[in-house]
Amino acid sequence: MKQINGTPINIKTDILGRITLNGKNILNRKDAILVKKDATHVPWGYSALITNSNSVSERRPCVSNVKRLDEFNEGDVVLINEKGEIVFVYEIKSSHNAIFATGRCNHHCIMCPQPPVPTEKDKTAFNLKLISLIDKHTKEIGITGGEPTLLGDKLFELIRQIQKFQPKAGISLLTNGVKFADKSYALKLAQCGHHDLQIDVPIFSDIADEHNHIVGANTFYKTVQGLYNLALFHQRIGLRIVMHKLTYKRLPQLSDFIYHNFPFVSQVAFMQMETTGNANTNYEELWIDPHDYNDELKQAVLSLANRGICTQIYNAQLCVLPSEIRRFAICSISDWKDTYLPECEACKLREKCGGLFASNQEHHSIYINPQTEDITGSPCV
Ligand code: SF4
Repeated sequence: MKQINGTPINIKTDILGRITLNGKNILNRKDAILVKKDATHVPWGYSALITNSNSVSERRPCVSNVKRLDEFNEGDVVLINEKGEIVFVYEIKSSHNAIFATGRCNHHCIMCPQPPVPTEKDKTAFNLKLISLIDKHTKEIGITGGEPTLLGDKLFELIRQIQKFQPKAGISLLTNGVKFADKSYALKLAQCGHHDLQIDVPIFSDIADEHNHIVGANTFYKTVQGLYNLALFHQRIGLRIVMHKLTYKRLPQLSDFIYHNFPFVSQVAFMQMETTGNANTNYEELWIDPHDYNDELKQAVLSLANRGICTQIYNAQLCVLPSEIRRFAICSISDWKDTYLPECEACKLREKCGGLFASNQEHHSIYINPQTEDITGSPCV
């Protein structure tokens, strides 16, 4: 998440609040944090002040000396802590906002970009408050982790809170699907009755042992059962496949497996790996230049797409993909993680290309090169 630092004044505990820039709102100031250039004539009632001034005589919580005030937008939601760190937990201009349900997980994926924590304080109360502060016109909200289903029934509280405060928002729930092997739990999710919920489930091989090795648990058949239970209750399902040295060889077979066993899924996404967290730790075991699995990827993508399954490629650089499958690539990297190389400036595909993870700047394909013509087609819809 984007973070900006300043000097803390009078901050004794974490403060969560919605950013306001104009200081004119009279209602609900207690949940708002005012951003102001100078620290004079500051109206009362706001939960905190953020300013770039360094001469502040405030008795209320304040972060001073903040250099980049132009990074704040009316309606962003931030968390301020005692160290003067300002963490953006919701960005109104981003289309990649997510509720981080928990840092715990029942899988230990070999390439997990955010390795799980063994224990933590329950985040549900914080997240319910966060959702209540998010703009009501937000179009899409993710629920992610860790593994969100480890919250048990509290997961449904989060979904219902989004239904209440962002009634038009679609939800993407990222889960390993294991908990949905319990049919009654899958039924409870369906009973939330959300109008636009997609459950995104990773699957890494058509062979149980290979999948289990990658996720660090013997759960392949539970995930499979979970998918069937979700389908039984007419839930919309997406599948996600992360590509690396342990998965790329059987991508075509995995596509075939998906087509024959899960024809009900609404989307399959092939994802280039982010080389941070466990993926960085296990770099030697996992890294392969994305260009070197293009044959397998092309076969896998076309085999699903030609059979009518919506297929997408996430996190890929257009110049590295074969022209036949560039139209399946979408700009999927969260804004705060997304970057381009200096040579991208001269590229004809710069506007359409999703770039690369900032953390992959050290480990990116050696085949990235600016394109002189636009060879892409319409993306999958
Ligand atoms: S050169 Fe850069 S902008 Fe162009 S396709 Fe490659 S990664 Fe994308």
